Amino acid sequence: MIGFAKLLWHPGAAEMAHVELPSTGARIAFLLASFAIVLLFEAAFPLFSYGRSDRMRNIGRNAAITVIFVGVNLLLSPLSPLAAQWTLDAKFGLSHWLGLSPLNQLLLGIIGLDLFAYFAHVSMHKLGWMWRFHRMHHADRFVDVTTTFREHPGETLWRIGWHIAGVFVFGTPAWVLVTYLTLSALNAQFEHANIRLPERLDRWLRLVFVTPNMHKMHHSRHQPETDSNYSNLLSIWDRLGGTYNRGPRFAELRYGLDGFDDPEKQSLRGLLKMPFMRDWGRVDARPDDKSDRSAPPPVLPWP
Ligand SMILES: [Zn+2]
Repeated sequence: MIGFAKLLWHPGAAEMAHVELPSTGARIAFLLASFAIVLLFEAAFPLFSYGRSDRMRNIGRNAAITVIFVGVNLLLSPLSPLAAQWTLDAKFGLSHWLGLSPLNQLLLGIIGLDLFAYFAHVSMHKLGWMWRFHRMHHADRFVDVTTTFREHPGETLWRIGWHIAGVFVFGTPAWVLVTYLTLSALNAQFEHANIRLPERLDRWLRLVFVTPNMHKMHHSRHQPETDSNYSNLLSIWDRLGGTYNRGPRFAELRYGLDGFDDPEKQSLRGLLKMPFMRDWGRVDARPDDKSDRSAPPPVLPWP
């Protein structure tokens, strides 16, 4: 851990390749601690008030999916470090070809991997068969910190594939990989949190990062809003890609997906089956927006 903390100040890229990385257990403990902190903020400064029984059921489902998410990630966790080690041994990828210093490796790694995360996310909205997996995340009517890892295993595979492609292209070292994944997971919790952030502060933060208010637009059931604000950690990709949506108008915001509100589809079994049910809601074709702004979700603006 101490070796990892020294990462920015270490003199050479070669030594950084052998820096001590935090263990998987330490990373999970760190994320659980940040999760607990976000929960406290949600309790203190809630953005929306949700009906208690509905929300508790939803939290239970999301917790179960998060356990599956963590299991799949643990199973696949050796892949990207292996890719990073291969790029190091073969001196493959931009970081090695350009002979970058550790600090520049870190900057290129974060920016590059985040660009690929943007590509992964946009592609899930544009490719009908990938949307089938990703819609489980969007079908949540009660967006909060428990939505963060509500991700179908098929989506996790897709994201990891893009992530590994990024490691190859940018020649990302393992320590940069761990730093990016930690930052990304922290920000993902923050942006999904059901917290009321002053719009002014949010606008300042979103000059660089994806913020809670910015990401909430992405969870709107109004399709033009759903298909915007795809960025993961850095907000610049939406600005460059023409997918940035200033929003949000919280009084009009409705989370979820039309056609996915009934209890069968929202059950754990229904959510996991969601990619394979052809007749469930918006499927392969993406028709013109027919979303109903008076749709049912009990999302009430904080007084
Ligand atoms: Zn999305």
